Amino acid sequence: MISKKSKLLRIRANWIVPIASAPIQSGEIVIENGVILEVRQSHSKADDALDFGNAVILPGLVNVHTHLDYTVMRGLIEDVEFFPWIRELTARKAAITQEEWEASALVGGAEALAAGVTTIGDCCDSGAVPGAAVKLGLRAIVYQEVFGIDELRSVDAILEELAAKVNNLKGITAGSLVEIGVSPHSPYTVRPALMRSLASYARTEGLKLCIHASESQAEGALIRSGTGPIAEMYDRRGIQWDVPGSGTASYLGSLGILGKNTLLVHGVQLGAEERDVVNRSGAAWAHCPKSNAKLGNGVADISMLGFKSANAEQPGTPVGIGSDSVASNNTIDLFEEMRFAVLLQRAARRKIAAMTAQDALEMATIGGARALGLDSLVGSLEVGKRADLCVVSLKDRRLAPAYDPVSALVYSASASDVVMTFVDGAERYSKDNLDHFPGVDIGCANNVMDHAAVRMRTWAPT
Ligand SMILES: [Zn+2]
Repeated sequence: MISKKSKLLRIRANWIVPIASAPIQSGEIVIENGVILEVRQSHSKADDALDFGNAVILPGLVNVHTHLDYTVMRGLIEDVEFFPWIRELTARKAAITQEEWEASALVGGAEALAAGVTTIGDCCDSGAVPGAAVKLGLRAIVYQEVFGIDELRSVDAILEELAAKVNNLKGITAGSLVEIGVSPHSPYTVRPALMRSLASYARTEGLKLCIHASESQAEGALIRSGTGPIAEMYDRRGIQWDVPGSGTASYLGSLGILGKNTLLVHGVQLGAEERDVVNRSGAAWAHCPKSNAKLGNGVADISMLGFKSANAEQPGTPVGIGSDSVASNNTIDLFEEMRFAVLLQRAARRKIAAMTAQDALEMATIGGARALGLDSLVGSLEVGKRADLCVVSLKDRRLAPAYDPVSALVYSASASDVVMTFVDGAERYSKDNLDHFPGVDIGCANNVMDHAAVRMRTWAPT
């Protein structure tokens, strides 16, 4: 195992894909105290470098939208329409203990590291993800989720509870790579007065915001016309709803949610007007192609998210790629996610240029870092940036002959090809070590989660 922050570390492989510049054949990276010192072609093999041979070294992947504590929900509610699906998911949360949430988050975080992910943007209600990310050494922004569509609790009471949670989580994550943010869950689970207060609380406290937005047809119908299954549920529960009559982005803009430190998640079926509202505000998008497809919500057109390739003259809206939870995806394999991203854009828009492999890789690295406001630190292999990177082996015959490293990564590779993951210059996952995650007892967390899953199988709401 490589010590937490080896003073000087040299790693080498047949390919380096720095993202910020063209791929380097036979390249090496020199890291000192967690910082990238050099990215260069390798001239000599006779030294102390860690040589991965037939492999690609690339920036650690940035998964901008996860719910790691939902790992225990994987495969639990399948083939159900979006609104009943999310209602059952929410109901089942009551059956899980805090210890189980913590185990589930740890298992999910380990799965992310083993898939080459070094940074996550996570929306978390249970409070379990920040501690898990600290233990595993993940870089993260964990947004504390807030709900409140009805008037059962006052805005002040909800804000007071949120402030206490945020302070507690800041204590747990002090001195780590984990930052705490706030997530009003969605436009249909947070009432307008609460949304306004959350926006102003986050801005006053300097906390980043994240919200699910423009995800389902049910949400669109509610906000545009006050119709559909969510509106019907409001009627049954006597929830007051003044129809905004606009798109979701415009509605959120009117409540003060949009801004430079806001991450919007999903963006399915946006129009040009909504695209421009988001772009002007400085907010970013999390693109979750597999989750959107699996839940029958559609394909988010990345040109409507405002995505532009890194070599475009004008920078577009920051867009990162997100797996969403394994409850709606089943894996957090960003290689598969990149593949789906390209294939779905091309299938829906019927042109190759709709999205390229390079676009997908940028989205999963520097695009995600921009979307989370972390691009000065990570997202590309550049001198002076923090050494977050992963190593993907090309040795499996599934990847041969790997003419081009970018297309091999996007069109052929899988999470299981990742052999090592470094965060901030420290080894956080090694496929070949028995102790895959240095210093973390994943076996114990697996047992706790498996035990919870046995109960979930037969659980029913009372
Ligand atoms: Zn989500």
